[in-house]
Amino acid sequence: MSQESGGNGTEPKVEDVVIIGSGPAGWTAAIYAARARLDPLVVEGAPSREMIPGGQLMFTTEVENYPGFPEGRDGQQLMMDMRAQAERFDTRIMTEDVVELDPSERPFRMKTSGGKEIRARTVVVATGARANWLGLENEERLAQAGGGVSACAVCDGALPPFRDQVLAVVGGGDSAMEEATYLTKFAREVVIIHRRDTFRASPIMAERALENPKIRVAWNSQVVEVLGDDFITGLVLEDTETGETRELEVGGLFMAIGHTPNTAFLKGVVQLDEKGYIQTPEAWRTRTSVEGIFAAGDVMDDYFRQAVTAAGTGCMAALEAERYLAHEAPAEAGSEIPAEPVAHEG
Ligand code: NAP
Repeated sequence: MSQESGGNGTEPKVEDVVIIGSGPAGWTAAIYAARARLDPLVVEGAPSREMIPGGQLMFTTEVENYPGFPEGRDGQQLMMDMRAQAERFDTRIMTEDVVELDPSERPFRMKTSGGKEIRARTVVVATGARANWLGLENEERLAQAGGGVSACAVCDGALPPFRDQVLAVVGGGDSAMEEATYLTKFAREVVIIHRRDTFRASPIMAERALENPKIRVAWNSQVVEVLGDDFITGLVLEDTETGETRELEVGGLFMAIGHTPNTAFLKGVVQLDEKGYIQTPEAWRTRTSVEGIFAAGDVMDDYFRQAVTAAGTGCMAALEAERYLAHEAPAEAGSEIPAEPVAHEG
């Protein structure tokens, strides 16, 4: 951990690159920045009820679609591998949240949840997004225990416990349509549970789902209870018009009710879209509306939301930060940035 990032009244060391967040985007950015000898500091996040360092993969059991692991990899293990790889190149890690980022000063000034102050010439924001949940007690417990409740059908749907089962998908947007259609490859039947009588999804995606013989819809329904001790066995549904309740037997529950990007500390700092995602105005670039601040991973992408795409944008952000430091950043006494970006392959 950085000994120089202050908090005791002394002016902190000016970091070249501070990476906020510790999912695939953050660790990939760290690996690239460290190998470019930028001595990155990763502020990996403080554990809380909603989020733990490592991000959403920490809640995923088996990751089968991250290339390089033909037998799959446990989500937590994959994140520990990425962290260890960043540490191997001397990445420094601070287990706190950034709660404030002041873009008006250069170097940028940040405050952490532990009261520390950090100064940085460039910042890579990779704080991710969190899946929205219904907030039911058993939903959270079973999701954390690998008990058949998930917010990512693409990550978990193909796992053995879900095969040939009746699976429920909650939501009426494009994600719910896509996830339900995907799950029909493995499930006996998929029930989309939607709280209204029309979908929010685009007509083409809705049509595709509705035409699938393995999919049926529970309209005007919401889940009010998740049943099961070690593994989900069913749901209690409430009719949103009549208030009547009924039970539905299921062997898996997939939430598709949207995501919330972790950008509360960035309001008024960089440009966000109406849902709170960081905007990166140029295609194939991770630059934000503020020079020197880059964004990577799910915090700037509500479309792909995959570990591998997050890692890709983490790489892009580190390379862009490196090039920015070498060619564009305001010069400062004592800065030891390589004049040209160093070679990265191998
Ligand atoms: P979304 O469009 O915001 O839809 C969320 C759905 O969840 C809505 O139907 C909403 O119901 C429902 N919902 C929200 N809170 C709920 C709650 N507490 N209880 C029950 N239901 C709840 O989110 P998304 O489907 O994840 O899509 C996000 C963005 O990604 C969209 O722009 C979408 O077009 C895009 N996307 C595109 C593709 C594709 O093109 N292949 C695939 C996936 C996502 P209401 O409708 O009643 O509000």
